[in-house]
Amino acid sequence: MQLKIYNSLSGEKEIFKPILEGNVGMYVCGPTVYSNVHLGNVRTFLSFDFIYRSLQHLGYKVRYVRNITDAGHLTDDGDVNNDRFVKQTRLEKLEPMEIVQKYTVDFHKVLEMFNLLPPNIEPTATGHIVEQIELTQKLIERGFAYESNGSVYFDVLEYNRRGLNYGELSKRNIEELFANTRDLDGQGEKKNPQDFALWKKASPAHIMRWNSPWGEGFPGWHLECTAMSTKYLGETFDIHGGGMDLKFPHHECEIAQGKACNDAAPVNYWMHANMLTMNSQRMSKSTGNYILPMQLVTGENDFFEKPFHPSIVRFCFLQAHYRSVLDISNDAMTASEKGFIRLMEALKIINGEHIKEKTGNQGTSGFNYSEWKGKAYDALTDDFNSPVLIAHLFEAVKFIFALNDGKETISTEELEDLKATLNAFVFDVLGLQNIEENNNEKLDQTLKVLIELRNQARKAKNFELSDQIRDKLLAEGIELKDGREGTSYVLN
Ligand code: AMP
Ligand code: ZN
Repeated sequence: MQLKIYNSLSGEKEIFKPILEGNVGMYVCGPTVYSNVHLGNVRTFLSFDFIYRSLQHLGYKVRYVRNITDAGHLTDDGDVNNDRFVKQTRLEKLEPMEIVQKYTVDFHKVLEMFNLLPPNIEPTATGHIVEQIELTQKLIERGFAYESNGSVYFDVLEYNRRGLNYGELSKRNIEELFANTRDLDGQGEKKNPQDFALWKKASPAHIMRWNSPWGEGFPGWHLECTAMSTKYLGETFDIHGGGMDLKFPHHECEIAQGKACNDAAPVNYWMHANMLTMNSQRMSKSTGNYILPMQLVTGENDFFEKPFHPSIVRFCFLQAHYRSVLDISNDAMTASEKGFIRLMEALKIINGEHIKEKTGNQGTSGFNYSEWKGKAYDALTDDFNSPVLIAHLFEAVKFIFALNDGKETISTEELEDLKATLNAFVFDVLGLQNIEENNNEKLDQTLKVLIELRNQARKAKNFELSDQIRDKLLAEGIELKDGREGTSYVLN
């Protein structure tokens, strides 16, 4: 089986060859934690979660690094008025680190809700100031950067003068870039308008500041990813991911920084996830065209007719390829819900006991198990084509229903393999969760809490309360049974 990955740098699907056989180093740009993540952000992180899960399923040992941007990330190269964190501290009257903590916690909660696996390393920009200062010094020493009025800028023209190509990822031409540049704050300090900040001098009002050889300041956004990816994955690593909108300038700058520092391309495969749209417009905080993940799940919004379980949202996202635009709508979500329920029903059948009785050796339909399995893996290894994979899963779903109705047969061996493969695709690779099981788990936990409270009431000889708990549960059809091993419950 050969894994093919679309490399944004070459614009082609390429056969994936990791640097170290069997191992993958993957870096994905994380969130800027100055506000809640919206559903669009979730789509990008979910796309890479699916890619991470797929790589693991295909047998790779993956070191997955996803950073937290908790400093810098200016809306442009200006100073205090453009620093997202500083702006938010004023708005919410909080310390910068309170803002960071608040939204990092929110980010983790949201991703957990959608069943995203945590990365192996989640480094922060503020935890790597020293590394960023060292990189800046190295770039100055190598003649790729210059200090100007307490700030340090990357010299884009010098980079190109040395035969390198700023613009190779975003396919932009440097002359064009010069022609289109707006007049930005701090531009007077730069040799050329396209030069980007590695280190910015902090004005007196700027509260997030660190000492450096150039005075007090803070790092530029692009540098943190170079510092952290190099530290944890090496000067050249396998995969770098992020949303499409990060191609330029962020990833273009990362390539320039990496090449200028180490004389080597930092990344072998650049992967970019496409955007989530709503009302056919890109989801974005700044335009107001966005929905928060919790609003979709609780139903507290004006756009969707009803609430949708996170696993259905996840399924809907994966029904589009990560490189395609996905427009979220009532119709799309409702269709995904229907499909999801049917898929879970088929899994319930195949995971159940009585399906074994349906085995035999005279399969009649066109469903050829080994052919099906081959096609499913072909989809997965064809640049992680989740919609095609899901379409194949539905062929198996159809077969399972027919099998259950006695219209099909399969050998015991193939049935076991189909069961294992389907479970792996649905739960491990697509990362879906069975809604029913989840609810049962919650119910079980809740009843255990009630049993514990009843025991406490009995110990305190508050029999009125303990009986009340027992009777009220019984009225709801939940019977508590006291035995030697403790109290258990039966759902009537
Ligand atoms: P940010 O915190 O703004 O850096 O964004 C975090 C990630 O979300 C980045 O990889 C962005 O490319 C991505 N992103 C932002 N808007 C969208 C959207 N509408 N759809 C998909 N991904 C998005
Ligand atoms: Zn980044």
